[in-house]
Amino acid sequence: MDCDVLIVGGGIAGLSLAWRLAPSRAVVLVEAEESLGYHSSSRSARQMQPSYGPAPIQELTRRSIAMVGRISERLPAPILMPRPLLTLGTAEQVAQLVAQDPALAALTHAETMDRSPDLRPETFEAATVDGTAMEVDVPALLEFYRSQAMGAGAILLTGSRVSGVESSAGRFQVSAGAHTITATIAVDAAGAWADAVAARFGARPRGLQPHRRSVAIVSTEHPVAPLGPMVQPADGSYYYRPDGGNLLISPCESVPAEPGDAQVAEHDITELIGRIGGVTTAGITGVVQAWTGLRTQPADGLPVVGFDAVVPNFFWLAGQGGYGIQTSAALATLAAALVTGTLPDDDGCLAGALSPQRAGLG
Ligand SMILES: Cc1cc2nc3c(=O)[nH]c(=O)nc-3n(C[C@H](O)[C@H](O)[C@H](O)COP(=O)(O)OP(=O)(O)OC[C@H]3O[C@@H](n4cnc5c(N)ncnc54)[C@H](O)[C@@H]3O)c2cc1C
Repeated sequence: MDCDVLIVGGGIAGLSLAWRLAPSRAVVLVEAEESLGYHSSSRSARQMQPSYGPAPIQELTRRSIAMVGRISERLPAPILMPRPLLTLGTAEQVAQLVAQDPALAALTHAETMDRSPDLRPETFEAATVDGTAMEVDVPALLEFYRSQAMGAGAILLTGSRVSGVESSAGRFQVSAGAHTITATIAVDAAGAWADAVAARFGARPRGLQPHRRSVAIVSTEHPVAPLGPMVQPADGSYYYRPDGGNLLISPCESVPAEPGDAQVAEHDITELIGRIGGVTTAGITGVVQAWTGLRTQPADGLPVVGFDAVVPNFFWLAGQGGYGIQTSAALATLAAALVTGTLPDDDGCLAGALSPQRAGLG
């Protein structure tokens, strides 16, 4: 099998790039698992929060929300819905947060209680709100990327783990499952495995470290308003939000882990249920479902996107950490422009901030 661009990894990074590249390039995507999106991309909290992350991430998130909004309008049912983010704290913490980020508005205690009536009033003084934050239907977004890529001619091969790479006559010859694929450009969108995949292609690892994080869906004694906000404390040590008639909660743990099929550490969830019981009167009654995934990023916390300077035609699309959902549409657009050599001048700075050649990586 022969192609212009081989993408390694069928999570949101690989699928969104296939969506952007397939109209102009012959694309083959290989995914090790039997299904697409099996790892981090199906284990997120499904949030797009413009106030979350460093400046390049915030920019990519604002762009992505606009793009996913337009995608949503073309689909039979909306896939994006407002989910404001409340950050609870002392009056001093709230003043500091608002001073740092013009996208945040300060709420008084009474305004915060109005927005989230099941809060225990004695547990905070004030809050900030990011009123532009959204929740996204990730399975529907992944399906959009997949179907658009395939509709434009991309070939997606599951059950096809990259196991061998050779280079000859300036092209890669890659063994993946039962397939041998010859490609001009190879893209590393392998999530937690990105450094290991890069090593197979002869590229220097960039210190991409996976960290596990868990989410649980819990039932409650009192009904939770389904359109209520996401709530977190100023130190970011947990979050919760309505999820249908239940609550989605996360202990926000960030524990270094090996690449793999991450599993829940039950004590993380049990401790969190106790903490959240102290903040809301919803009354958690049981765990409906819990899962753990990996958030993978380099030491400086920014994605690694661009051509490798040493291995010709090897392209990085990795290290999205906790931002891979909220940045996918715009990050794939930026990556596709870099792959095809069509980057707008205005995006030079942004691309520079994410470059695999930037100082301090690996
Ligand atoms: C609990 C939790 C909550 C999160 N919440 C949010 C959120 O609200 N908003 C947000 O923006 N982000 C969130 N994230 C982060 C987000 O999920 C990730 O940034 C994103 O899914 C990463 O996508 P990816 O495609 O890079 O990785 P993955 O989805 O892991 O995809 C990489 C794929 O590469 C494949 N692969 C690896 N090696 C090979 C090989 N040798 N050959 C072929 N295939 C290979 C793997 O099988 C895998 O399917 C959260 C993460 C977690 C864990």
